[in-house]
Amino acid sequence: MKGNNGGIKADLLITGASQLVTLAGPPGPRRGRSMQDIGVIENGALAALGEKIVAVGTSAEVKERVILEDGSQVVDAGGRVVMPGFVDPHTHPVYAGSREHELALKLAGRSYLEILKSGGGILSTVRATRAASREDLAEQTARRLDLLLEHGVTTAEAKSGYGLSLEHEIRSLEVLRELNRRHPVDLIPTFMGAHAVPPEYRDNPGRYVDLVIGEMIPAVASDGLAEYCDVFCEEGVFDTEQSEKILCAGLALGLKPRIHADELADTGGAALAARLGAVTADHLLFASDQGIEALAEAGVMAVLLPCTSFNLASGRYARARKMLEANLAVAISTDCNPGSSPTQSMQLAITLACLYLRMTPEEAITAATLNGAWAVGMGNLAGSLEPGKLADVLIIDAPNYLHLPYHFGVNLIHSVFKRGTLVYSRSRVRRNSKEAWR
Ligand SMILES: [Zn+2]
Repeated sequence: MKGNNGGIKADLLITGASQLVTLAGPPGPRRGRSMQDIGVIENGALAALGEKIVAVGTSAEVKERVILEDGSQVVDAGGRVVMPGFVDPHTHPVYAGSREHELALKLAGRSYLEILKSGGGILSTVRATRAASREDLAEQTARRLDLLLEHGVTTAEAKSGYGLSLEHEIRSLEVLRELNRRHPVDLIPTFMGAHAVPPEYRDNPGRYVDLVIGEMIPAVASDGLAEYCDVFCEEGVFDTEQSEKILCAGLALGLKPRIHADELADTGGAALAARLGAVTADHLLFASDQGIEALAEAGVMAVLLPCTSFNLASGRYARARKMLEANLAVAISTDCNPGSSPTQSMQLAITLACLYLRMTPEEAITAATLNGAWAVGMGNLAGSLEPGKLADVLIIDAPNYLHLPYHFGVNLIHSVFKRGTLVYSRSRVRRNSKEAWR
């Protein structure tokens, strides 16, 4: 918007960024080598009007071009990094309870699938989720969204999948819809009734698949409760044939497919994702060379979850370098869930992506922002700092972006702006408090 002397009107101005990491460039996810280009402006600034960014450039350029409205917010980033909010393209935030007791089982050598088969794992969270009141479920979920936001996530895909009955899957998606209305984090909902076979169908999993297809998907689609449909395609969970049936049923009613593929074994999940033209194939630890080639040809994005590999402690990580050489677009995620990845830290995902997926810091940052946004259908609105996009902006308490992978295990977020509004700022340590005790 132009003011009367040719300047650009703004009501938020952030100046003094040591590095403004813009991720600016042609629309679309970055593939392969182009993930290296993150568009850094030294001594950068950004201006926004309402929810949207209106100017980006050096501090001198932006200050000269914008005309601030009365009551504008002017922020000095103080030589810190300014970058787009993280977009987490794979989370399971709507559940009750926690599973800290499984750590001991894991340390005693029990595998993830063994714990699941004995009624633990996902199924213990299903019991807790079904037993919780709607208000309690919403409050526990909101607290997880707070943590995502405090750690820099401004947009997140969010899956159901701990209800596993018509009533409880619908309730989980309704909780997500309600939170999307009132919580700053933008949520993109995914129906994942095919997350596990619930105990009441243990002896007849085919009937559960019928229920997902015949009742759950039509109910979810007719209420507009989800944009995507996801399946845990894995040995001992849903096979490729069942997964294909479920994803095709979703697709027929407008739910775009994404897949948990080849996480614990090569079951052909990547090939299935390619065949169906899924938006993303996620995990991919055991994806074969042919599976990776098929994803590249079909233009399916790979969503890699290094926090899950780290927490499963098997030493196995997705072959990101192979995927980047195949010219895939790669995104990374927390996989925030109560079992295999109880974390809300995209910063940890960035560190692990560099150390164990052997991605460069630039590739990991692209994967955590711009590619995450394209992976959830938000590429035109989020993931980069460009005029016309949402003013979802992080100030990072670091002098350059290399600190994101380098300075791990702490929260480097100084401030979070969501749609142009300051929604989180770090509180200060009271360094001189001892004087009062003396
Ligand atoms: Zn998952």
